Amino acid sequence: MDFLSYQNGQLFLQNNAIADLAKLYGTPLYVYDEEYIKERWLEYDNALADRKHLICYAIKANSNLAILNCLVKLGSGFDIVSQGELERVLRAGADPKKVVFSGVAKSVSEIERALTVGIKCFNVESEAELERIQSIAQRLNIIAPVSLRINPDVDAKTHPYISTGLRDNKFGVSYSLAIGIYQKAQKMSHIAIEGIDCHIGSQLTEILPFLDSAERIRVLFDQLISIGITIKHIDFGGGLGVCYDDEIPPQIVDLINALKNKFADYPEVELLFEPGRSIVANAGLLVTKVEYTKHQDNNHFAIVDAGMNDLIRPSLYKAWMKIMPVQQPNPDDQMYDYQIVGPICESSDVLGRNRQLAVEQHDLLVICSAGAYGFSMASNYNSHPKPAEIMVNQFGHRLIRQRESYDMLWQGEII
Ligand SMILES: *Cc1c(COP(=O)(O)O)cnc(C)c1O
Repeated sequence: MDFLSYQNGQLFLQNNAIADLAKLYGTPLYVYDEEYIKERWLEYDNALADRKHLICYAIKANSNLAILNCLVKLGSGFDIVSQGELERVLRAGADPKKVVFSGVAKSVSEIERALTVGIKCFNVESEAELERIQSIAQRLNIIAPVSLRINPDVDAKTHPYISTGLRDNKFGVSYSLAIGIYQKAQKMSHIAIEGIDCHIGSQLTEILPFLDSAERIRVLFDQLISIGITIKHIDFGGGLGVCYDDEIPPQIVDLINALKNKFADYPEVELLFEPGRSIVANAGLLVTKVEYTKHQDNNHFAIVDAGMNDLIRPSLYKAWMKIMPVQQPNPDDQMYDYQIVGPICESSDVLGRNRQLAVEQHDLLVICSAGAYGFSMASNYNSHPKPAEIMVNQFGHRLIRQRESYDMLWQGEII
């Protein structure tokens, strides 16, 4: 997060003092950098400028309408995994013709809605789903564009919870069954075969698993051609990792060039990517306030007002996220080895372990790289309203989601 810097001992994001933003909007507070989001998306887009392509931002990483709208304006496509996400992208102004629909459990009504609005493609994850899409498409008399999500059986070398391309994962159709399912799809009256899709996991920091998977897709592509099945697009999924700590993930342009090369002899084939994390993770941070410090039995706790309800990555995946004080410490301040913990009644509610900090009540901290899988995974556990979200750019800052009120906590409930 190179756009964060200390000026006279105070942490700034672009021209905004974090302390001022916290005062204005309260804490916990999600802050996103609009220019950074655009830059990352454009890095993908530019790397593919020389061929037909579509960048489909995976909205589950962060689905705030303002972020989606900013990508709509750049011409982005979207990767969705539910009808809720479909309604979001439509609400944000997206062209349905640029939407691909992934997910293992698409319901009848989700498929109906996607067919009716006319999405670009269903990324089909099982033979049963293919049959369901065919029967709904027939009933509605609409041709359904499909791509099979292939499980290439490669090890993404990431956390097991976010590894999706291994044979034993629930995602995609097994590589060995793919040809048979394509042949079946070809005979269906209301199915149009459009592409091949894969997505092998998230937070990948090496290029090799991507290449292995692309190689397997290429073999399948050639086999399909040899039996007369044409493929209009290849969807490489998302999954490119970011730097949270000291990871050195591949550069976007290097990844794209390597994958592009695998299909250099088929320039008419459109290439799709579904990046999520690599676009928004390092664009966002979570600002939180220290409510108390507690020093007992050789433990030093900084108890903050954000918890696993706001940001679950550290609890769920043991993810390490950088935590910075908003006020730079003085050399003579007393430092402790802090556990940064939230308000939730769970011992797993830890945002950071063993951080050397000098903090007191009311001090502010920022949790870096919180733009992806932060707010989108937030919950109301322990009946905490979800935090506000704001967008910062070179011109200033603006609210993009109100802090939830207490009334909103029981909306829809009936005594
Ligand atoms: C989650 C997901 C993505 C995005 O993954 P990132 O690691 O955030 O880039 C892309 N495609 C599919 C099908 C997904 O489930």
